Amino acid sequence: MQPLFQMIFTETRGNDNTRPAQVRFSQALLSPIASFGGIYSPEKMPAIDEDFLRQHLDSSYKELALALLEHFDIDIDSTILQQALDRYDHFDNASDPVPVIKLDNRLFVSELYHGPTRAFKDMALQPFGVILSTLAQQQQQQYLILTATSGDTGPAALDTFRNRANIRVACLYPQGGTSDVQRLQMVTEDASNLKVIGIHGNFDDAQAALKSLLSSPSFNQRLNELNISLSAANSVNFGRIIFQMLYQFHCYLALVRQGEITLGDKIVIHIPSGNFGNALGAFYARRMGLPIAKIAIASNANNVLTEWIKTGSYDLSKRDLIATTSPAMDILKSSNVERVLFELFGAVRTRELMRQLDADGRYQLDAGEQAQISEIFTAADCSDEEGSEFIRQAFNKNYLLDPHTATCFKTCQAPEFADRVNLIHSTAEWTKFASIMDNAINANQPESDQVALASVASSAGVEIPQVIANLFKQPIAHPLVVDKQDIESEILKFLEASNQPVGVSPQSSSS
Ligand SMILES: *Cc1c(COP(=O)(O)O)cnc(C)c1O
Repeated sequence: MQPLFQMIFTETRGNDNTRPAQVRFSQALLSPIASFGGIYSPEKMPAIDEDFLRQHLDSSYKELALALLEHFDIDIDSTILQQALDRYDHFDNASDPVPVIKLDNRLFVSELYHGPTRAFKDMALQPFGVILSTLAQQQQQQYLILTATSGDTGPAALDTFRNRANIRVACLYPQGGTSDVQRLQMVTEDASNLKVIGIHGNFDDAQAALKSLLSSPSFNQRLNELNISLSAANSVNFGRIIFQMLYQFHCYLALVRQGEITLGDKIVIHIPSGNFGNALGAFYARRMGLPIAKIAIASNANNVLTEWIKTGSYDLSKRDLIATTSPAMDILKSSNVERVLFELFGAVRTRELMRQLDADGRYQLDAGEQAQISEIFTAADCSDEEGSEFIRQAFNKNYLLDPHTATCFKTCQAPEFADRVNLIHSTAEWTKFASIMDNAINANQPESDQVALASVASSAGVEIPQVIANLFKQPIAHPLVVDKQDIESEILKFLEASNQPVGVSPQSSSS
């Protein structure tokens, strides 16, 4: 008989006696923040054996995903999980939402970007939206999701929560700090529960504005009066991480089905990394027993993760954020690394290390700890110039590689992987970063993404996907761009307008 497993969540930095030391999945999803500034993380990962993998050799993506979620035994009904997974029916190919493409003899790409907003964020946020909205309805509670985006999270969050009951989203983006396509994906999202606001400034300004809003007494008091709770859809939310574990299994089985490996062979997974959510999914899959030899972490010039994996030193103290051609990886404080520390070294040590990081901007793992990290991970960083060269090389072999995915061609160069089967997780469609693509392929300096899309499509002999082409024809639903100090009043105006009971005008409801 198989031992029963139930996924329980505990706190990465231990318990302060004011919060629950253990919660189930639904609560970890609704309030991810734990004692001492930690996060809720699984106490233990379940095991998956070769029999399980063999049983699911011919399962569809959704069948495999449901079997895994049921194996985790989280406190969400099967029918709701099923509805959440049905979101993959809206991907390009409902029967194969994550195609695994062969590029070369030992080189494969899992395309995680075939969802509605053309980036891998859809893999998790699409089903997450269904689950969060369902939990909110069960609790009869209204939630506001506040998000500041540098480009990919905003569109994916807006798309998944559009017209979902009990959820409102206010999304801040830096005016001029995203690609045209990313901005249009946000400002054309027309639904009464969504508000998109451009900020004069860069992504840091948008994030700082969000932080000050969260700690504003007047804002929180008004939320209370309106009976609206705050929730978050950011990348530490385990409600997102859990869906990023599932495709690791799918991709492995796809390679078996395609005759490239036999069950039990170990593969190398290469991941363009920022907040380490995608990589964490692979880490947990490996812990559970999926045959993964190594997880290769690709960074750009913000190579804090590469340094951490190679030397055991996580050091922010001498770094400033550098703007690169892979902006979704322009991150220094990679939030999900904390869960790796917790899983390998426990809560006491995690709290100590994270305290050092907060106080000194750095920590150093000891030799034994670092050995454990480098047994699982390797890493390399890729400059913008190297990335452009990889995009050109792939283009010459008729493959369009986005600038984030391109960084993985650097990790693939490691001699130790020459005899391995290498799988690259591709995180975005080229169309989201058309100007960078046009520059890499044609040495152009296009005046807009629209020009760049036409140029790259014509060079490659491909069509611009309809969802992208349509963006330029749709009306702008959210023209608003404001200064930081006006954000609070704009969001409150939106909440007050959308809080009116249906059919009652603001005048007649005043008391
Ligand atoms: C979010 C994102 C990443 C980084 O993923 P993490 O899970 O945060 O490491 C990489 N590439 C693209 C295109 C993304 O949108």
